[in-house]
Amino acid sequence: MSPEKKIAQLEQKVKILERMMEDQTRSTFLAHTQLDHSNNTLEQFAYVASHHLQEPLRMVSSYLQLIEKRCPDKLDNESKEFIGFALEGSQRMKQLILNLLEYVDISTHPKEQAVINSETALKLALSKLESAIAQTKAQVTYDALPTVIANESQLQCLFQNLIGNAIKYKDKNTTPKVHISAQKTSSAWDFSVQDNGIGISKEYFDKIFLIFQRLHGNNEYPGTGIGLSICQKIIQHHGGKIWVESEPGKGSNFQFTLLGS
Ligand code: ADP
Repeated sequence: MSPEKKIAQLEQKVKILERMMEDQTRSTFLAHTQLDHSNNTLEQFAYVASHHLQEPLRMVSSYLQLIEKRCPDKLDNESKEFIGFALEGSQRMKQLILNLLEYVDISTHPKEQAVINSETALKLALSKLESAIAQTKAQVTYDALPTVIANESQLQCLFQNLIGNAIKYKDKNTTPKVHISAQKTSSAWDFSVQDNGIGISKEYFDKIFLIFQRLHGNNEYPGTGIGLSICQKIIQHHGGKIWVESEPGKGSNFQFTLLGS
């Protein structure tokens, strides 16, 4: 075959490959757009559904409370116990709905980010955790924290979830100790929330960040399994990452990155 013919054949092949790549890029883009769209639709649905569930739930618990209050003499001990369980269940459901609304709200109503002092967000979180800290006699300490680019109320929520967990998942016989610190890396700040609690096995490091995934029953440690997925979503919206290092019985170190100012 003459060199000219060979070049023409090669050019033909290159054109075919280019066209195939274009097609591939177009269908990947389309698939991404469709996925984004169905994610948004799902989140809108979850938001509206959770919102609408609040009213009937309020009705159920108010009528149960009314029965308890108005008919104390007509109820035997067993019935009172059953009403107690039903009220407990509706209280748990209320918490679940509130957490779910909080989770979906992060994507459906994006919050403005600005240069803020992360220590202020930490102090606000600690004030919300005052009674849990007092009840468990937890010792919470922290280093001086930097200014970062973030949404203050979301950073407060993040600290509140991580420190709340650090206090909740405590070893039965030890006083919880939590230390918060931050280290500068070349491109960002690495935050750490270190506790001396029950710890987590390596095989669960990813699973615990998924929504509704819990490693304990509600009787052992109460919770909804949404807190860490809220933390992950907040950090994703800030362009950072969040992960945990831990060993059972040796405490956990939850870490996340944020851009500095
Ligand atoms: P919740 O605390 O409501 O169960 P989270 O999403 O905050 O939900 O946490 C998911 C799971 O991760 C918890 O059920 C618990 O098993 C584990 N976990 C979270 N934080 C800690 C911690 N500091 N120490 C040990 N286990 C933890």
